[in-house]
Amino acid sequence: MNPTRPGAGWIEVIAGPMFSGKSEELIRLLKRAMIARQRVQVFKPKLDNRYSEGDVVSHSQMRVPCELVDRADEIMPRLDPRTEVVGIDEAQFFDDGLPGVCGHLANLGKRVIAAGLDMDYRGIPFGPMPELLAVAEEVHKIHAICTSCGSQAAYTQRLIESDELVVVGATGAYEARCRRCHEPDGAPPASEPWLIPPADEGREA
Ligand code: ADP
Ligand code: ZN
Repeated sequence: MNPTRPGAGWIEVIAGPMFSGKSEELIRLLKRAMIARQRVQVFKPKLDNRYSEGDVVSHSQMRVPCELVDRADEIMPRLDPRTEVVGIDEAQFFDDGLPGVCGHLANLGKRVIAAGLDMDYRGIPFGPMPELLAVAEEVHKIHAICTSCGSQAAYTQRLIESDELVVVGATGAYEARCRRCHEPDGAPPASEPWLIPPADEGREA
């Protein structure tokens, strides 16, 4: 849904597990905004220091260009005042400043569309997502298909263990699971971080 009148700010959040189509939906909405000749800027957290620009890429290889930032407070200085729609991908990896920045953007009249994992592989609310979901005007909670039983999947199952802070090359490390099939106890201890798949596979998270 769009803001009810032009220039009215708005926050939409697309939340769900891995493989639920968050990136596809974000890209679809951003491409529609571009077709409507609206100015779009897209931001994603920089998960390593290799690139300053990149793409939002879905598992089905849809993509739109984006700017990579280290922190949420880097978004406002990079904002083109003419921008009408601000896309945020991998919102869960941002710091706690993200909901405030999204609120500021919406107060300036921008349409903010943020996509992110609502829960980590343990089933625990992820980073700034709970607050972002609370302050959003609209929330799309979407599901994947459980790889074990074919039901609707709201959880992400981590399949491998690691002691590394950031693991590059973690393809195949996650799959979508329903509540019944999700095994949070089978996952590594809570002190271990989320793993980050490599940028050179087309996805940075
Ligand atoms: P997300 O950003 O939520 O991780 P993507 O938009 O990147 O999701 O990818 C969604 C696509 O992933 C689907 O359209 C489908 O082609 C593919 N896919 C692979 N595994 C699954 C699954 N278990 N359930 C649903 N879609 C899946
Ligand atoms: Zn299942």
